[in-house]
Amino acid sequence: MKINRRKFMKTAGVTTAGIFMSNVNSGQISSKAGKGPGLKLFYEPYELKLIHTFTVAEGSRNTTPVVLTRLVYDGITGYGEASLPPYLGETQESVMLFLSKLQLEQFNDPFRIDEILDYVDSVAKGNRAAKASIDIALHDLIGKIVKQPLYRLWGLNPDETPYTSFTIGIDTPDMVKLKTREAEGFKVLKVKIGRGNDKEMINAVRSVTDVPLYVDVNQGWTDRGKALDMIFWLKEQGVVFVEQPLPKERIDDTAWLTQRSPLPVMADEAFQRLHDVVRFHGVYSGVNIKLMKSTGLREAHKMITVARALDMKVMIGCMTETSCAVSAAAQLSPLADWADLDGNLLISNDPFEGMKVINGKVTLNTRPGTGAVLLNA
Ligand SMILES: [Mg+2]
Repeated sequence: MKINRRKFMKTAGVTTAGIFMSNVNSGQISSKAGKGPGLKLFYEPYELKLIHTFTVAEGSRNTTPVVLTRLVYDGITGYGEASLPPYLGETQESVMLFLSKLQLEQFNDPFRIDEILDYVDSVAKGNRAAKASIDIALHDLIGKIVKQPLYRLWGLNPDETPYTSFTIGIDTPDMVKLKTREAEGFKVLKVKIGRGNDKEMINAVRSVTDVPLYVDVNQGWTDRGKALDMIFWLKEQGVVFVEQPLPKERIDDTAWLTQRSPLPVMADEAFQRLHDVVRFHGVYSGVNIKLMKSTGLREAHKMITVARALDMKVMIGCMTETSCAVSAAAQLSPLADWADLDGNLLISNDPFEGMKVINGKVTLNTRPGTGAVLLNA
């Protein structure tokens, strides 16, 4: 889908004019906005261009479709985003269809977050990224109304943000070395493995750098015994944890592996929403929380509370996303053990600017809401 930032911004100036007809197929900015002071929703498809072809155990791609959202209330705009990597099953069409069903103008108080987001969650099952696009825009909006960044509203210390890993996708040894050199400045790298050349991948990275490594198998291993052997080897290579080693359905084998593993075993693909945290206690050591799975910040925050109560590790991750969604996730990052918030750094056409990675560390700004601003607005 073509970039249409100008139209996105242009309409921002005429939001109070009211009614835009929803048109799922045209890519036009759409809204169910009606009369009165309620929340007004606008949305638009956008295609992220990846700097490098991205290969993980499931396959390769060069673009990621997203839908950008805006919630407008009393002349103030909150921005949100649904990122739609193909393996999660949502599409721009499904997101816009979901958004077109929402009647958000019925809500006259954006601070009634639970009421609004419980309604959004009730409209249809699934649609987690679509729901996240509303949650993020709503949190951005209320932060802007009270002129405070979200981390302050949650009582968090912005100095306690973690380092973020930078992701190295599966590739030839030469390309892996090149990408590892390009990632100089990051204090930790996340290496994708699980396609049969695991040791080659790790050795290529290790020939360039000594930084700690996170490893993401993306369900690529099938034999739990071999997986355990590999984890022992990875520990010797300075790996900190292993993410989603076995297929998500293999609950018993994963519990067996986690019990014996010398490294924490983190759930990603297996894990979506709040109830999964409780379900996976004893199966995984911790959870990789992503806003596009959790339906946004409200539920992600609850997940962290529950995971901590169960003595589980917490990681905050992301999809390939613009700085809009990544900045939202970054607001929660002082609560996480580990962060993988590099999704905006993997794209060449980010329409937003927000949280920065400075000396490898997630660095929050003092702007209100998510801290993300639309560039050239
Ligand atoms: Mg992962």
